[in-house]
Amino acid sequence: MDMFKPLEVSDEGGAKGPSESEKVRCLIIGSGPAGYTAAIYAARANLSPVLYTGMQPGGQLTTTTEVDNYPGYPEGVTGPVMMENLRKQAERFGTVVKQGSATSADLSKRPFRVTIDEEREVIADVLIIATGATAKYLGIDAEKRYAGMGVSACATCDGFFYKGKDVAVVGGGDTACEEASYLAGLCRKVYMIVRRDVFRASKAMQERVFSTSNIEILWKHEAVDLFGENGVEGALLLKNRGTDSEEEVKIAIDGFFLAIGHAPNSEIFKEYLETDKAGYIKTTPGTSKTAIPGVFAAGDIQDPHYRQAVTAAGSGCMAAIDAERFLSTAEQEKGK
Ligand code: NDP
Repeated sequence: MDMFKPLEVSDEGGAKGPSESEKVRCLIIGSGPAGYTAAIYAARANLSPVLYTGMQPGGQLTTTTEVDNYPGYPEGVTGPVMMENLRKQAERFGTVVKQGSATSADLSKRPFRVTIDEEREVIADVLIIATGATAKYLGIDAEKRYAGMGVSACATCDGFFYKGKDVAVVGGGDTACEEASYLAGLCRKVYMIVRRDVFRASKAMQERVFSTSNIEILWKHEAVDLFGENGVEGALLLKNRGTDSEEEVKIAIDGFFLAIGHAPNSEIFKEYLETDKAGYIKTTPGTSKTAIPGVFAAGDIQDPHYRQAVTAAGSGCMAAIDAERFLSTAEQEKGK
């Protein structure tokens, strides 16, 4: 890895550019199963990868308890342990793992330029985007008002604080069912606020919820506000919203957990890469190739369908192989 001299920084009071710059052969952004698997393969292919972890080192799996469906762990494994193992494996082959989040990117020409934490610029021959997805919120003001005071999008991170209390989980998918089941083991009562009269979750997850006595499902309810003096003390819901039988319902709760899906972290790349309506980066089917040669995408950032650790890892492997082939072809052509 070569270190460049610092870029020129304006001292005229205008927008300042990055104050430092480094050049790498293969830059990987993101430290979930996709990023680390790409790093393992890229390192073993001598691409000298540098991986920036993003805001949540280890990615979404670090907020999970048991992972029972990742092959090779007959007794299961916790998300944080699995991610720690993946990091160590990537480092064992020479990956340089660094803390920092990509805050802007210039993919207009190769080498690509990615700014980390608004201050460091990384110049990369190839780029693997594995930035994953982030939890969605409802968009009601109360979520901001009570941020860190009873509102959370991660039951496994924050559930502990609600031991013996009453909480609500919003959503009807696998995540909501999983989080409600987890919270039911800690809390006195768990309400599930489900906007339709059916779950989206798999049958197995639904069964788990139905057989848990301290979970109460509020079908056809939507949360519209939260109230409380020094933190959440309750939620205002609308039952049968928008119909003749619409009615207001209040529930007393101490914690309000969002589990309504995730949004892909593709904002800084959208100017250059094609995304679908939801923001997932489009890749050539069967590959990790984006519309820009030399830029590859892996994991949840390009996968609105499966979003599993094992599929993310598989696509990380594909991205590293695609990157290695791209670089060797480019280097051969340069040498001609
Ligand atoms: P999903 O998109 O599957 O489900 C989101 C849920 O939130 C749906 O019930 C949806 O309602 C509801 N919802 C969305 N927006 C709103 C809103 N504004 N107000 C109220 N409710 C809303 O997301 P998940 O995070 O649950 O799952 C994502 C993927 O990860 C899935 O493929 C899932 O199978 C997988 N997964 C697997 C797990 C496992 O196997 N252990 C665990 C967790 C996730 P509606 O149904 O009406 O659209």
